[in-house]
Amino acid sequence: MTIAPTPPALPDDRGHFGPFGGQFIPETLHAAVEQLAREYARAREDGEFLAQFDDLLAHYVGRPTPLYLARRLSEHLGGARIYLKREDLAHTGAHKINNALGQVLLTLRMGKRRVIAETGAGQHGVATATAAAVFGLQCDVFMGSEDVRRQAPNVKRMELLGANVIRVESGSRTLKDATNAAMRDWMESSDHTHYIIGSVVGPHPFPMIVRDFQAVIGRECRRQCLAQIGRLPQSIIACVGGGSNAAGIFYPFIADEAVKMIGVEAGGRGEGAGDHAAPLTYGSPGVLHGSLSYVLQDEEGQTSPVHSISAGLDYPGVGPEHSYWHDSGRVRYTTVTDSAALDAFALLMRLEGILPALESAHALAHAIAVAPALDREQAIVINLSGRGDKDLDEALRLMGKTDPG
Ligand SMILES: *Cc1c(COP(=O)(O)O)cnc(C)c1O
Repeated sequence: MTIAPTPPALPDDRGHFGPFGGQFIPETLHAAVEQLAREYARAREDGEFLAQFDDLLAHYVGRPTPLYLARRLSEHLGGARIYLKREDLAHTGAHKINNALGQVLLTLRMGKRRVIAETGAGQHGVATATAAAVFGLQCDVFMGSEDVRRQAPNVKRMELLGANVIRVESGSRTLKDATNAAMRDWMESSDHTHYIIGSVVGPHPFPMIVRDFQAVIGRECRRQCLAQIGRLPQSIIACVGGGSNAAGIFYPFIADEAVKMIGVEAGGRGEGAGDHAAPLTYGSPGVLHGSLSYVLQDEEGQTSPVHSISAGLDYPGVGPEHSYWHDSGRVRYTTVTDSAALDAFALLMRLEGILPALESAHALAHAIAVAPALDREQAIVINLSGRGDKDLDEALRLMGKTDPG
């Protein structure tokens, strides 16, 4: 058996990944993030905590999720063999539950009884409301009123789970505004409330904590590759919104230099400002939501509007560790357009009987583009971050628009 290599120990104790990361927060939040950092440092060394987390992942989430060889898709493309890491089969339909459960366990350790979360498409809100239900915590989810309208079924789900969905009416009434509102709540409530951030973003220690809770994806995948393929894959492809599913699958492979890693951002309708959500491709370093990272912003540092067919990728920032991997060259980042993602969504249904989330369809579309040029001996792993039931109506509407047949 091959033991997974120890990845480089980043971030440093101030939360820096090279020049990125850190803690750009108001004074009123210092005590809360310090408490979280201290509690997490203890928890990660505590066998009982780790055993409880593993037990939940196995018996509640349904882990390990399978690594599936997509035979018909691979044959259709006529190149590399394509494997799907099936996070769509995790409870609640995506990888987000891994992080939500881990942070709920930390909440209990800190003696807090209330959690808050921000959500865009509603997936992180559902995962947090689910984890809160399992442990009987009060849960308030901040959601832009525009997203509440677009994602009505997830709002119903959160309410049935006992969560309170707070409509945010400021700004563009989407994810960025919901995050600002959650931060404001936390400034006043942090003595009894934990803020469960949904991706590898925010001030230190959040990017590290979320990455570590999601790294179960990459650890399983590494083991499964060795068992099922007999070696590590040629490349791993994942979509990047804030970057948590990508960081989770990439991290345990960082020291495996032969494994290429590609993060796929939302290319939207094109390269113009406001037409995409691709900070690593088109953005520049700036501070957003508590850390320094690549951000989509104008000359004055105002955050730019974003667009993607997929609500989970529709965010102007990205995790600081991705910015570090970008600049160091360890991970390559690219974009996939709305229409290529939509084609990939349809193709996976037709050839494999799997309905992917539109987010995951971005990773899939990149694999579809590169696989034909590779040979059959090579294996590509795609992180299929979630299932697409939530996207079905929107996808059908868009397909109807582009293809009246
Ligand atoms: C939220 C979400 C994403 C994007 O978030 P990351 O933090 O970049 O992983 C991707 N896929 C699915 C299915 C999601 O729900």
